[in-house]
Amino acid sequence: MINLEKLWKKNLRDIEPYVPGEQSENPDIIKLNANENPYPPSPKVVETLKHFDSNMLRRYPSSSASELKKVLAEFHGIDKNCVFVGNGSDEVIALSFMAFFNSKKPILFPDITYSFYPVWCSLYKIPYITKKVTEDFTINPSDYYEENGGVIIPNPNAPTGKGEKREFIEDILEHNKDCIVIIDEAYVDFSEYSCVELIKKYDNLVVVQTFSKSRSLAGIRVGAAFGNPELISVLEAVKNSYNSYTIDSIALELAIASIKDKDYFELTNQKIKLTRERTTKALRELGFKVYDSDTNFIFVDCGKYNAKEIMEYLKTKNIYIRYFNIPRIDNHLRITIGTDFETAKTVEEIENFIK
Ligand code: PMP
Repeated sequence: MINLEKLWKKNLRDIEPYVPGEQSENPDIIKLNANENPYPPSPKVVETLKHFDSNMLRRYPSSSASELKKVLAEFHGIDKNCVFVGNGSDEVIALSFMAFFNSKKPILFPDITYSFYPVWCSLYKIPYITKKVTEDFTINPSDYYEENGGVIIPNPNAPTGKGEKREFIEDILEHNKDCIVIIDEAYVDFSEYSCVELIKKYDNLVVVQTFSKSRSLAGIRVGAAFGNPELISVLEAVKNSYNSYTIDSIALELAIASIKDKDYFELTNQKIKLTRERTTKALRELGFKVYDSDTNFIFVDCGKYNAKEIMEYLKTKNIYIRYFNIPRIDNHLRITIGTDFETAKTVEEIENFIK
């Protein structure tokens, strides 16, 4: 007799998901494992939340998110129809993979990079090839000259923290005029160069950003993409083919309030950069190889010490940092920049461990 009960199993999707940084219920931990911002959102965001009219929740949110697109367009000095918004940049990138990577040719991305990219490729059955970054994690632009079905590169890269300049991005774009190039700028506000302005020059460029890092708003899940209006309209069509309302009404208002507070945004980002420099120096003094960072985290080569053991030791002290059991970086640690107190405490405990 056929075992009918089990037949449905062959129709289930077999997929290995992305694993995000561990969350904890304990409010007392020092959480430096998910590149969240240690500072609260702008006071303007807090005020907006306090005065939010709960009666609005009866209604669906705006499916076009028109006001948020308007303030983002003004912030970047671009046209409103060059802006797309979604439920975190993870969703924006996932939709971009669906919308733009439909070739039989493989898409290209670095071997050491955001580990969600291969997961989306597997979900949407997109062929891909990874290009080896150098020993010091530099991306070689000529690796991206070959024929391909699209390119995605984070700038700055994660988890290495390394940012590239305008010449690098233009080099990639000049050699990839027949496919879509996505630059994932999740960490760009802690670096020197954003390529949003290049969307005016290259009609195949899509730049993705997030409110999760530099705007202290990981909890509301808002991300954006910038590109020429034709690309943005394809993204809209894909979004509206699975969910018309990806950003809720509260998130929309808070994201708008955040964009309107440029001073606070610049102040907190500056603070994080200063703490980043202090932490880098302190860990170098302890003998670690710390890569120059253009992000809100640092990437540490543990050398003669065991990275996994350090991560586990810190956890016993209620300090969470990120360890990747991935070839080439399995003796490295990624440490998010917290407050001065949090990072100093982390360095102190690392020093205790090595002694
Ligand atoms: N891109 C990169 C490179 C990231 O590290 C992250 C954060 N995990 C994201 C995109 C997604 O961030 P979010 O969905 O919070 O906008």
